[in-house]
Amino acid sequence: MNYIVFDLEWNQCPGGKEKENKKLPFEIIQIGAVKLNDRYEECGQFQEKIKPRVYHSFHHHTQEVLHMNMKAFRKARSFSEVVTAFFEWCGPMEEAVFCSWGSQDLLELQRNLRFYHMKNPFPFPLCYLDIQKIYSLQREDGRSRKNLQSVIDSLELPKDQPFHEALGDACYTARILQTLDQKKALEYFSVDYFRIPQNRKEEIQICYETYQKFVSKPFRTKTEAMRDRKVASTRCYICGKPARKKIRWFTGNSKNYYCLACCEEHGWLKGKIRIKKAEDNQFFCVKTLKLVSEEDAASIIKKKEALKEKQKRCRADG
Ligand SMILES: [Zn+2]
Repeated sequence: MNYIVFDLEWNQCPGGKEKENKKLPFEIIQIGAVKLNDRYEECGQFQEKIKPRVYHSFHHHTQEVLHMNMKAFRKARSFSEVVTAFFEWCGPMEEAVFCSWGSQDLLELQRNLRFYHMKNPFPFPLCYLDIQKIYSLQREDGRSRKNLQSVIDSLELPKDQPFHEALGDACYTARILQTLDQKKALEYFSVDYFRIPQNRKEEIQICYETYQKFVSKPFRTKTEAMRDRKVASTRCYICGKPARKKIRWFTGNSKNYYCLACCEEHGWLKGKIRIKKAEDNQFFCVKTLKLVSEEDAASIIKKKEALKEKQKRCRADG
């Protein structure tokens, strides 16, 4: 098994959001990667620039962080040539664990592949390691997301490469990964949402050590999604028995829904559903079920009551 720790540099439309090509808001202009073996030892590097085809000057953001000008990209190969070389360098997909800082690189890589009508070589579902998230889970509160440079600083790792250069950032990400607990890092893998389940059969269900995740197929409306029996179900992920709902799914912002159920054997089960936008104005759900303490259960009850009060006040005002 190899870890492919990669990083992308991309450019955005210099004329701003209104003028951008909606199919390619982020045009990849460089791929950098470090390969680590299963003992976390470095065994290869990849870096290549890509000749831009959509945006021919830099967005001011890109220009600010990049250490190169457009001239440096003129002689570069095309996206399809470079990405093909990259995947060849990666080796067999089934032996590769892709790792990146955050979740956007893998998403934009696939968006660029689709833009050029190239085959998406990744397996479905695509599981990967988001080192930014895993760092937070192992070293911080699990919620915060720090930038690469500040983590390198707090770990006092050497800063011998330029930041915001694909290979440099990939090397830094790899060094951070090397400081983390390997077994635990693998347990906290993420699921990529660029391609989502298209039907019931493809829906994803993953059991982590302390919670369960479910990714649904797309629905036309949020209401339809929340009415779906499989989406709304609160089966206990330990024993598989239906857990009785104490508080039914509720929401304050129609984006995140919460519920509280009780398994006779395993106790309080907290449910959370995040509604996410899919393509063609559709929606899909990411549901997590987690066994929680009495205290956590009480805080959901409180949340629901506060919301009820607020709604009552709104009605009275109206
Ligand atoms: Zn149970």
